[in-house]
Amino acid sequence: MVLAQLGGSISRALQQMSNATIIDEKVLNECLNEITRALLQSDVQFKLVRDMQTNIKKIVNLDDLAAGHNKRKIIQQAVFNELCKMLDPGKPSFTPKKGKTSVIMFVGLQGSGKTTTCTKYAYYHQKKGWKPALVCADTFRAGAFDQLKQNATKAKIPFYGSYMESDPVKIAVEGVERFKKENCDLIIVDTSGRHKQEASLFEEMRQVSEATKPDLVIFVMDSSIGQAAFDQAQAFKQSVSVGAVIVTKMDGHAKGGGALSAVAATKSPVIFIGTGEHMDEFEVFDVKPFVSRLLGMGDWSGFMDKIHEVVPMDQQPELLQKLSEGNFTLRIMYEQFQNILKMGPIGQVFSMLPGFSSELMPKGREKESQAKIKRYMTMMDSMTNEELDSNNPKLMNESRMMRIARGAGRPVREVMEMLDEYKRLAKIWSKMKGLKIPKKGEMSALSRNMNA
Ligand code: GDP
Repeated sequence: MVLAQLGGSISRALQQMSNATIIDEKVLNECLNEITRALLQSDVQFKLVRDMQTNIKKIVNLDDLAAGHNKRKIIQQAVFNELCKMLDPGKPSFTPKKGKTSVIMFVGLQGSGKTTTCTKYAYYHQKKGWKPALVCADTFRAGAFDQLKQNATKAKIPFYGSYMESDPVKIAVEGVERFKKENCDLIIVDTSGRHKQEASLFEEMRQVSEATKPDLVIFVMDSSIGQAAFDQAQAFKQSVSVGAVIVTKMDGHAKGGGALSAVAATKSPVIFIGTGEHMDEFEVFDVKPFVSRLLGMGDWSGFMDKIHEVVPMDQQPELLQKLSEGNFTLRIMYEQFQNILKMGPIGQVFSMLPGFSSELMPKGREKESQAKIKRYMTMMDSMTNEELDSNNPKLMNESRMMRIARGAGRPVREVMEMLDEYKRLAKIWSKMKGLKIPKKGEMSALSRNMNA
């Protein structure tokens, strides 16, 4: 079962429970059994699911709940909290700080997306003003260095590796030394993967770890491996002190449950998820918004209320319609920017939508964000109607971009940046396709409870 289906099944089970006239033991059991089935089908470990069921039953003791208590809400809240608990083993063992040198070692099996993720992680921080560097200590796989080099060059991130040297420890130490001297604040060491867990892989990891003394070891795991995730995560954790997990390929037909199990197994939190092959298809992972999103609630409700508050009445139905169609054009982006600028304390509305807040409008940098949005709008003013209304990404060829840049008096680089932003938002928007849009206030009470 893919993640969206899992969320749908759990939501449906809760909905059915909510529709029952009286909530008694039987109704609660049916609801929990439904949720259990959905989680098991998503490859969540049996023990975790059983514990979750027991915990919910303990919390929701129907006999103890006095009449008048809103049982539905208490059950929904318990399910939400238990799902969060399952996904949230606490903070990573270490959090790097900008301007202070940290060594981050990446481990994981070959093919898990480790090398790609190293670059995504570096690129993510680079965009935020860090000075990252990449070290390729994978001497096992032919072509590993070339791949890292290619990625790093594309992202303009300094890298270190060797075609000749076969000792990964030596390369790792040299690379870390060099980048420490160059005052890089995030030194990322990509280690070898191997096809399967084997003693030599773990031995090599241990040696690289001992020699480079990483501040944080990140375990990269492919979300599609299902049940095997548990054992794999545990084996890595036992060999080297994994402090955080990054789950990749969440865009595919991932059985998210495997990832959930892995988190529980390692007692290490998931800090990012990979959502595509491209460098910027990488998202910070936060448990509560994730579970809210999974269940199709929470995040959206506050957002919807804000839309009702801010977007002029006559434009609301149209915007909501567009939202549920999942069809995001540049014109919609333009109109939303207008709304954002209109409403004063910038960032409030769209900060509720995953994706908008962290990248486009980071907290505390409202002025810069506002200036950026205005620049984007100036560029969009130089676009034709066809360009604004199209959702064909191929339409924006080089000559169009150059024309827009000239028209707006901005460098082509900025037009490209704006289009990247558009693509990112369009992707998030597309996830809302088919979303049942709650009416004003309909979801807010529930979500306030859930997010409390
Ligand atoms: P490594 O052997 O663990 O270093 O794995 P690579 O970084 O070479 O990645 C293996 C394959 O997975 C490549 O084709 C990547 O493009 C792809 N990949 C990595 N992360 C993601 C992701 O989040 N989503 C998708 N769809 N593909 C990914």
